[in-house]
Amino acid sequence: MKKITIAIDGFSSCGKSTMAKDLAREIGYIYIDSGAMYRAVTLYSIRNGIFDGDTIDIEKLKKAMKDIKISFRLNPQTGRPDTFLNNVNVEKEIRTMEVSSKVSPISTLDFVRHEMVAQQQAMGKEKGIVMDGRDIGTTVFPNAELKVFVTASPEIRAQRRYDELKAKGEEACFEDILKNVKQRDEIDQNRAVSPLRKAEDALLLDNTNLTIEQQKEWLMQQFQSVADNDKTIA
Ligand code: C5P
Repeated sequence: MKKITIAIDGFSSCGKSTMAKDLAREIGYIYIDSGAMYRAVTLYSIRNGIFDGDTIDIEKLKKAMKDIKISFRLNPQTGRPDTFLNNVNVEKEIRTMEVSSKVSPISTLDFVRHEMVAQQQAMGKEKGIVMDGRDIGTTVFPNAELKVFVTASPEIRAQRRYDELKAKGEEACFEDILKNVKQRDEIDQNRAVSPLRKAEDALLLDNTNLTIEQQKEWLMQQFQSVADNDKTIA
């Protein structure tokens, strides 16, 4: 049976990763969180004095790109992949507010994007992959058989992020999160290289009023209808 490529793009904190991961697990595909890769580059930049929040040492980061190795390994406890930076598990560290507030400027850099896109395309060479991000349907896999673009109001997205952090027992301030969500939207949509936008052939999902369960069900139905149209797909 033939496998396809599934591209899920959209705004931050839309529940893209949750639905993408669960779909991948159910249909036996690989799941890749492309945002985690940009977050790992950002974490490396913070730790190595490349980005202090105001300025990015471009030359230093260009040279460092060859020393930044990002990989994913399945966490048997969560059943989901964890992100590794140079063979160290950084899944928790890349989700902090500090990284969230610095990731979008790093993601505007053409040489960073170029490297990440090349790695993502290599990961999807054999198909059978669900990847989520901002430019998957437009730049990474423009020929993906199933493309989805997810959106929801900034307030709902900030609330979800707030609830998520609180559930993990972490400190969270709703106003700070909302500000971060809006700032990232602004930078992601307006950058010169691969800005966040819906691919013309992507299905639009506004999940403002959907539960995670409804959203997952919707995605599974979209996969089923692609598979129903081409019986060689599994
Ligand atoms: O998906 P997540 O919110 O973790 O992504 C973090 C940031 O990484 C985004 O706000 C965006 O700036 C960047 N990103 C990107 N292209 C992708 C995935 C993420 O520019 N494909």
